[in-house]
Formats: sequence, structure tokens, C-alpha cells
Amino acid sequence: MSQSPTTERPPVALRTEALEQILVERGLVDPAVMDAYIRTYEQDVGPMNGAKVVARAWTDPDYRQRLLDDGTGAIAELGFKGSQGEHIVVLENTPTEHHVVVCTLCSCYPWPVLGLPPNWYKDPAYRARVVREPRAVLAEMGLSLADDVAIHVSDSSSEVRYMVLPERPEGTEAWSEEQLAAVVTRDAMVGVATVSATQ
Ligand code: FE
Repeated sequence: MSQSPTTERPPVALRTEALEQILVERGLVDPAVMDAYIRTYEQDVGPMNGAKVVARAWTDPDYRQRLLDDGTGAIAELGFKGSQGEHIVVLENTPTEHHVVVCTLCSCYPWPVLGLPPNWYKDPAYRARVVREPRAVLAEMGLSLADDVAIHVSDSSSEVRYMVLPERPEGTEAWSEEQLAAVVTRDAMVGVATVSATQ
């Protein structure tokens, strides 16, 4: 006996569809607009934008300074702006200072540079624990930091979204901006990973 398609899908997907159907039926949302919105954030907006910002900062000291002074403005110079990115603060990681970003309240995230947040970022366990025991949480996520590296946890809100400027990996001195952007990951820009030259 074959299963019906509905039994194979998670309840949350069914609930989402039901909600969408009701909103469309009542004329509260236009499905074409919603599809376009989803397509934008799936295809056009994502960590590749943030990676370009990071690569520029690594290769252009003046840009790096502007980015740290006024994240939103410097990011907009590269054409990235919009919803959930009205006020972005960029935090620079160094050999002695490590920044990691969370939204303890919900899942605030800098959409124009990182796209939509990953599931773990929205997980109540990450949101609660990274504040109390960041070193342990980072180690569990595969990032073991030396004891002499200070960890700063920044709590995003509807007013301020944070993005981490990771350290440039050694051995990349001769790399082009494009090569550099290709190794910058989403996780490194949230601060739960570092950038490796071999990715
Ligand atoms: Fe939030």
C-alpha cells in the first residue's frame, strides 16, 4: 500500500501550507509576490554577499575601516541593503578577540549579507547556551579557541544586526578578492567558525 503524500511530510510543512492557503484565500498575500520574495532570498541574497564584503575588507584597508565605522554604509557601497539590514554593525575578529553572534530573543539576522538564518541559529539551545558558555558551544560546533582568546557574544535585535569580519587565513597573501570571497563561509560571518584557506 502506498502512503499518501501528506503523511510523508512534516507537520510544520503542512501547517505552513495551510496558513499560506488561508492568507491567499482571504486576499492578505499575493502568491506571486511571496514566490518572488522567497526566490530572492534563496537565489540572490545569501552568504555570498557577506563573503564579498569580507574579501573587500581584507584587500582594501580603507574599506575595512569604513566597514568597522559604519557597517550599513560600507555594505551598501557593494550594493547590499534592504530588509533586516537597516543597521548592521561589523565586529572584527583578531588573534586575541573572537566575536560570535546570537539573537537571544528570536532569530534577528543581517539578511542582506547573510540571507536567511540557518536552523541552528534559531534553536533555543544555541540562543540560550552561547551566552552562558560560548567556549563550550563553539567547541561543540567545531571551533576550539585557545584560553587566551577573549570571546564576545553580541545579541542581535530588531534595531541592530551583527556580522563578523573573520580573520584572513594565512597563506592567502597573493589571492585575488574573488578567491578570498570563495572561502568565506556563513558560519565564519556569524562567528561559529574561522576561515580556512583550504575550503
Ligand atoms: Fe531576533
